[in-house]
Amino acid sequence: GDEMNIISGVLNYKSKTVDEVMTKLEDCYLLDLSSVLDFRTIASVMQSGHSRIPVYVGERHNIVGLLLVKDLALIDADDCTPLRTVIKFYNHQVQKVFDDVHLDAMLEEFKKGHSHLAVVQRVNNEGSGDPFYEAIGIVTLEDILEEIIQSE
Ligand code: ATP
Ligand code: ATP
Repeated sequence: GDEMNIISGVLNYKSKTVDEVMTKLEDCYLLDLSSVLDFRTIASVMQSGHSRIPVYVGERHNIVGLLLVKDLALIDADDCTPLRTVIKFYNHQVQKVFDDVHLDAMLEEFKKGHSHLAVVQRVNNEGSGDPFYEAIGIVTLEDILEEIIQSE
């Protein structure tokens, strides 16, 4: 029953790592830093249903900022404000975490911090160039709570 699921969830979640519960980058709704906040873009953000939108430069794995839907409250679509302007103004910090961090440690981070979303990153050392950090997904407090209460 539900009680057994919750108890086993509480006992087991610590052994799992963020990459097991994250939303994979290909499934993430992101915005390009060079976008313009016109009607089409704002409508698309609203339609995504998410309240936190990571922002990338160039390639999707290169996440540099975070837009909160509430940042759009004072934006007029007719002004076609560059997203860059809003990102610079609010300057929300993007929490980053390595893919092998355990869920109990991640939960502690979320409790300490002000954001309930973190970008999951790993070191990419494939290829001949220097190794670099790349985003592979996002994890939110909700993803951890779901694992604890085994709701999905
Ligand atoms: P809310 O408005 O209730 O905060 P939300 O979708 O913005 O909803 P969460 O409730 O924290 O955020 O997350 C619900 C699920 O959506 C989680 O699995 C999370 O990983 C995923 N999620 C959150 N933000 C995004 C996003 N920008 N793109 C894709 N998935 C996301
Ligand atoms: P977020 O934008 O991250 O969702 P929030 O303050 O709107 O922040 P929560 O993070 O769910 O919402 O709540 C943080 C604390 O603020 C909780 O203790 C909650 O009860 C309280 N809180 C949320 N909304 C209000 C409100 N309208 N008036 C007073 N307290 C609120």
